[in-house]
Amino acid sequence: MKPDVIVVGGGPAGMMAGLLLARSGIPVLVVEKHGDFLRDFRGDTVHPSTMEILDQLGMLDRFLKRPHSRLSQARITVAGRNLTIGELRHLNTPTPFIAMMPQWDFLDFLKTEASRFPSFALEMNAEVVELIERDGRTVGVVLAGGRCIEAGKLVIMADGRGSIVRGQNILPVKALGAPMDVFWFRLPKREAAGEALRGLVGPGNMMVMIDRTDYWQCAYIFPKGQADVLRNDGIAAMRARIEALAPDLGSLASDLVDMSQFFLLSVALDRLEHWHRPGLLAIGDAAHAMSPIGGIGINLAIQDAVAMANSLADPLRQSENVDGLLHLVERRRRLPTRIIQAGQKLAQDRIIGALFKPGMQIKRPPLALRLLDRFPVLRRIPGRIVGLGIQRERVTSLET
Ligand SMILES: Cc1cc2nc3c(=O)[nH]c(=O)nc-3n(C[C@H](O)[C@H](O)[C@H](O)COP(=O)(O)OP(=O)(O)OC[C@H]3O[C@@H](n4cnc5c(N)ncnc54)[C@H](O)[C@@H]3O)c2cc1C
Repeated sequence: MKPDVIVVGGGPAGMMAGLLLARSGIPVLVVEKHGDFLRDFRGDTVHPSTMEILDQLGMLDRFLKRPHSRLSQARITVAGRNLTIGELRHLNTPTPFIAMMPQWDFLDFLKTEASRFPSFALEMNAEVVELIERDGRTVGVVLAGGRCIEAGKLVIMADGRGSIVRGQNILPVKALGAPMDVFWFRLPKREAAGEALRGLVGPGNMMVMIDRTDYWQCAYIFPKGQADVLRNDGIAAMRARIEALAPDLGSLASDLVDMSQFFLLSVALDRLEHWHRPGLLAIGDAAHAMSPIGGIGINLAIQDAVAMANSLADPLRQSENVDGLLHLVERRRRLPTRIIQAGQKLAQDRIIGALFKPGMQIKRPPLALRLLDRFPVLRRIPGRIVGLGIQRERVTSLET
């Protein structure tokens, strides 16, 4: 049977969009190009704003039963000083903390919840290579191998920063620029307990360490375009940089032995000039690629999915054509996206870009970070923005 809605991409935006539409009784098919969720993802953070949505859906208790660690403060080490720069404990929300959960577990959770609704379908190993256009409308997708699937009413592009609408120039992109890229790698965890997240800043580089219970998932952040230079420098030099950033880890000689342990994640900050055209709507990173700063992209993608369902679920159930309503989703989400991206750009240019200046020596932490550390009340501001976002959504679409 032809689904009313096809969602391209089973990331956070696509899985949440599929779940919400199926919950409203709309036949929806999510197509995901990978065969499973077990791969290296960008980011592990589930923020209070996302858990509020899960609470509204009656799913929060089940989510919190999955293994995760909790983070209620953001800490960073700069020039050997440990600073607390964000505080979430004061937030008036059911879960005033960030849940650190590997993204494959979070996606598996969304899949399990969505599968309870009979009109939900998920096809893995299904890569969309082209869109089907008819009379100026998008009416379906072509999968690798040539199979065509038509959508009764709408195609939602949730296929991330490499979206087909970008690659095939279907919707033009405005780039904002990002000065850094990331090497993603693992380190063994020697101590049993510790902080859920560590941020370390050195001259010309930075590292974030995420506690994944039995190992550290690490992100080594370096100036954009330098990946090949670092690879050519070799493993001994790379190991020395990491040991200098985190001296408490001791010698990493037996842990980091080959540059193939480092997986490149490229960072982008951009957005589409328009998020929709007849028959098609882009959400999540497909509409606006987010930088890792603040660990906010997953949560923004979820908010887009909620705004989409709030605006479209009822009309989709009642009418044939929702083309005239697609702008409502963009209108609702454009401002929060722009504000968050402006904040990420500012942090990129003023803090990260400055740290990456050749010959830069950090004698003491920047004033803004020292002020946050000194005055606990100030830390609530980044805590609120990161934890709850701006103009957060509330689920208003109905369950049928
Ligand atoms: C280095 C780095 C670290 C980050 N860390 C964090 C963090 O800690 N917390 C946070 O909130 N955000 C983080 N972000 C941002 C975050 O990763 C994204 O904003 C978020 O993943 C967007 O979700 P999405 O569902 O829109 O897209 P994606 O997560 O990119 O999902 C898109 C999905 O579509 C699938 N797909 C792609 N093309 C096709 C196709 N043609 N056919 C079918 N399926 C397709 C992909 O396989 C994927 O499953 C980070 C970003 C970077 C670069």
